[in-house]
Amino acid sequence: MTTLAPLPYESPATEQDHAVMRTQLGREMRGVISIARRCACGRPAVVRTSPRLEDGTPFPTSLYLTLPWLTLEISRLEATGLMAELTARVEQDSELAAAYRDAHERYLARRAEIGDAAEVRHVSAGGMPTRVKCLHALAGQALAEGTGTNPIADEVLVMIEGVLPELLCRCDDVEEA
Ligand SMILES: [Zn+2]
Repeated sequence: MTTLAPLPYESPATEQDHAVMRTQLGREMRGVISIARRCACGRPAVVRTSPRLEDGTPFPTSLYLTLPWLTLEISRLEATGLMAELTARVEQDSELAAAYRDAHERYLARRAEIGDAAEVRHVSAGGMPTRVKCLHALAGQALAEGTGTNPIADEVLVMIEGVLPELLCRCDDVEEA
């Protein structure tokens, strides 16, 4: 296997990060390896997690979006039926399909750096490589790896204010809502 360049934004998870994630999710974030991307304010945005949780459960979504304002924005987009539209595009556009498959392969290679769970070895996340099922999972990859890794996620993230080219902080949007 070829070695990947390090995740560009990865940093260690501190005790404070764990406390923030508990607030973000309303539960303990399990299987934490590191913080793969942070909001501009420093709060965890994407958490890198082990492919197998402490209790033995396989956990394929190894780049997990936790940032509430962004999760909410993506849920709003999902509610418009965008996934069906994007899946149809992947089916019809061979160039897009190839790039999306590359993103799938990248997901698996990145996860293999931190462990292995045979049950999910060929399962990436978000519906890849042929379907678009969860925009949160795809966004997690794009935010962790940077623009140009996942073409579908890049298209989605550009629709959300404050994500590209730099991830800004909109945490107050959610806290005040
Ligand atoms: Zn923030």
